[in-house]
Amino acid sequence: MNTPTLPEIDEQSASKGVKYVYFFGGGTAEGNGKMKDELGGKGAGLAEMTNAGLPVPPGFTIQTEACREYMRRNQVSGEVNRQTDIALKKLEDLQGQKLGEGDNPLLVSVRSGAKFSMPGMMDTILNLGLNDHSVESLAKRSKNPRFAYDSYRRLIQMFGSVVLEIPKSVFEEVFDAKKKHKKAKLDTELDAKALQEIIAEYKKVVKKHAKRDFPQDPHEQLTMARDAVFRSWNNDRAKHYRRINNISDDLGTAVNVQAMVYGNLGETSGTGVGFTRNPATGQKEFFAEFLMNAQGEDVVAGIRTPLRIAELERIMPEVYKQLREITTRLEKHYRDVQDFEFTIQDGKLYMLQTRNGKRTGIAAVRIAIQMVEEGLITKEEAVFRVEPNQLYDFLVPRLDEKNAKVEVLATGLPASPGAAVGQIVFSANDAVAQAGRGSKKKPVILVRGETTPEDIHGMEVAAGILTSRGGMTSHAAVVTRGMGKCCVAGAGDISVDEKAHEMRVKGQVFREGDWLSLDGTTGRVIKGKLNTLDASPDDPELNKFMAWAEPFRKIGVRANADIPRDAIQARAFGAEGIGLCRTEHMFFAEDRIPHMRAMIMAREEKERRAALKKLLPMQRSDFIGVLRAMDGFPVTIRLLDPPLHEFLPKREELMVEIAVLEATKPKSPKLKQLKTVLRRVEELHEFNPMLGHRGCRLGITYPEITEMQARAIFEAAVAVEKEGVKTHAEVMIPLTATLKEMQNQAAIVRRVADEVFKEKGKTVHYLVGTMIELPRAALVADEIAKEAEFFSFGTNDLTQTTFGFSRDDVNKILPTYLAEGILKQDPFAVIDREGVGQLIRIGIEKGRKTRPKLEVGICGEHGGEPASVEFCHQVGMDYVACSPFRVLTARLAAAQAGASEKLKVEGGRTK
Ligand code: PEP
Ligand code: MG
Repeated sequence: MNTPTLPEIDEQSASKGVKYVYFFGGGTAEGNGKMKDELGGKGAGLAEMTNAGLPVPPGFTIQTEACREYMRRNQVSGEVNRQTDIALKKLEDLQGQKLGEGDNPLLVSVRSGAKFSMPGMMDTILNLGLNDHSVESLAKRSKNPRFAYDSYRRLIQMFGSVVLEIPKSVFEEVFDAKKKHKKAKLDTELDAKALQEIIAEYKKVVKKHAKRDFPQDPHEQLTMARDAVFRSWNNDRAKHYRRINNISDDLGTAVNVQAMVYGNLGETSGTGVGFTRNPATGQKEFFAEFLMNAQGEDVVAGIRTPLRIAELERIMPEVYKQLREITTRLEKHYRDVQDFEFTIQDGKLYMLQTRNGKRTGIAAVRIAIQMVEEGLITKEEAVFRVEPNQLYDFLVPRLDEKNAKVEVLATGLPASPGAAVGQIVFSANDAVAQAGRGSKKKPVILVRGETTPEDIHGMEVAAGILTSRGGMTSHAAVVTRGMGKCCVAGAGDISVDEKAHEMRVKGQVFREGDWLSLDGTTGRVIKGKLNTLDASPDDPELNKFMAWAEPFRKIGVRANADIPRDAIQARAFGAEGIGLCRTEHMFFAEDRIPHMRAMIMAREEKERRAALKKLLPMQRSDFIGVLRAMDGFPVTIRLLDPPLHEFLPKREELMVEIAVLEATKPKSPKLKQLKTVLRRVEELHEFNPMLGHRGCRLGITYPEITEMQARAIFEAAVAVEKEGVKTHAEVMIPLTATLKEMQNQAAIVRRVADEVFKEKGKTVHYLVGTMIELPRAALVADEIAKEAEFFSFGTNDLTQTTFGFSRDDVNKILPTYLAEGILKQDPFAVIDREGVGQLIRIGIEKGRKTRPKLEVGICGEHGGEPASVEFCHQVGMDYVACSPFRVLTARLAAAQAGASEKLKVEGGRTK
């Protein structure tokens, strides 16, 4: 499902009748809090706060349609400019100031603000309106030349990088050189004269890199800044963020132009950010941080470590009281935790922003429960207050410190809970390069002085994040909490030299590749590689929350588990059966692989049967364990699927071993043996094993394998039932494409079942069904359903065969496809509703035409991904199946899918 994007307005109507600009100020606003589509989250919030009579600096919002228009035509219409001029005039009149002119110039901020919050992803420009003249007026009026020049140099720097696209580093080099020259440690130690010199040098930088002067005309500054903010909708990090968060590229951002208020006017000014409840733990406590004599970016960028809000109560008790009153009111009004920004200018409080706050999964559950108990929201609403993926937080590992040597290197802020153990990298690109994918995945800890939105791709792949600067609301903290990833922020004792790829702490030097263990729940940074412990999912509040959600769930949730231990774990997480037991995983065990190899090496059926006979009791005991753990819930057992060569040593390794033996021990019997194995490996070699001798093709060419597996299943089921435990085995044939294949394998399974039941004198209930993993199977599902009693969509293979992407090699292509927008999401992670989804719909419809009660589920990786679970609900599947650790997530996603249908709430996972 696509997000409701606003209708396209054609060029002609664009200039007629559309209200592009919404004013707010003087106690009333033209917009309101419901207009997020047009005004974006921030603009709607400003309008709402203004209407509520809160102290909000006045301004206007240029709506998202202007952005979409800009994206289509590379410019806005004349009407947008006309309405902007009118709003600016109104703002000037209200303030009694003129933009960038006179003794008391009006200065504004220009900020992005889309419908869905995208923290730090797009651009912002502050102090707009300053030029060579107005900076002098500001200096005089504020009686603080240092402040005025500092504001001006910040404007040139921001304007230079955002609008004129000059690399930030060029400005930073000038600034750092000046600090060094003046022997200043802190930015604030640079005096007015030094800042004036920096301004002169910044102007030269602009001239050199942008081939033009820094614009002195404030109106030109405003137009250019507005357009740059529109363009920032399509910068790489914003696109990346939207992809991760399923936000439509078509929405566009609004632009908020607002009178500046200054938190850096001196010691009675300040700025801060906060939450109405603790976003990490969910505790009901006022949770904010601030800095005196600073601008907003100083707090969120983590450049200076902010003060706890209790300090404000000491410094300015009246302002603190007012802030508490306002934020409490805001929370009641929005009926959700608020994440707010404020500025104090000369002792007067201004609210700059409020929005629903991002929080950890643990906090989300606690807050949802608190708010129901406080009567703020209903239980139904509470179900939607937790993102299904966030439940993972309850399952995050803890460090296993028992018997371990724990050397705490530093303690930072517990920014995002859980534990992470990994090898150090110092840049986002290195994180991506080192973290790898699939089987080559290795855990890395991204260590930075501070993170910025440019690090987002590295943060996504890292196991954990460590920063040496910044607070609980720094970029690293906010983003990792959203991702449910462990983060320790602001560990000030650690000095990070990103260029030298080194971090120093306690007189020790750590380099790339060294191991660190992070405890995001306490903020500790520990030397070396600790083990981790699984979390317990038995939190009473989690259980309470799930008890509210579960009645809405219509589809079942099963787990993919191959061994009894995982099955037990899955039951504990609430799985209602096994959706996929991959029997080959049982063969890979150390004590079994020799028998498996003997079976594969066998030249004749007799030899093969002898080897299979040895495997039979082992398989049977596994099945007994799994069936017992599931205690009457269905257990879907898939017959052998992978190509046989996967069970033999690798060809290249054998060749090396043979060459070594030939050179050293040419007469050894092992050499002969290895050569035989190599011959068999070469016989089994396939150019395209994924499309090769695998799935039901194995069972058809070697029916004795199917026979052995069926026997193990039924003997196990009979044995378990004799213990008094109910069983419900579902025997699943993999990779079928035709009815005949299905009939061939089902006949063997049913024959063996009858044999076993007769031998044991007991019959058990079972089904024989198939996976739908090939487009052909979906297209002829009506045929296949004549024999198959259930379908399970193997969407890993179905995605592979529908796209023709190799699931093991797709990573060579995928990053480019995602970056270019050719694909919006990784189709191996989120179901491609258009293509693969269509095949699923066809498969279900045709299958149920033949067999109306056909049981249908999914067992590909998608079965635990919330948007895909929603899709499975919508197409009428009976259940989803996923790995045990995603069972909770799938349960909530399924409940939300059911609830959104029933309650007609704003649902839909694809924003
Ligand atoms: C699938 O293809 O979706 C599936 C579950 O099977 P496997 O991943 O084992 O190929
Ligand atoms: Mg498969």
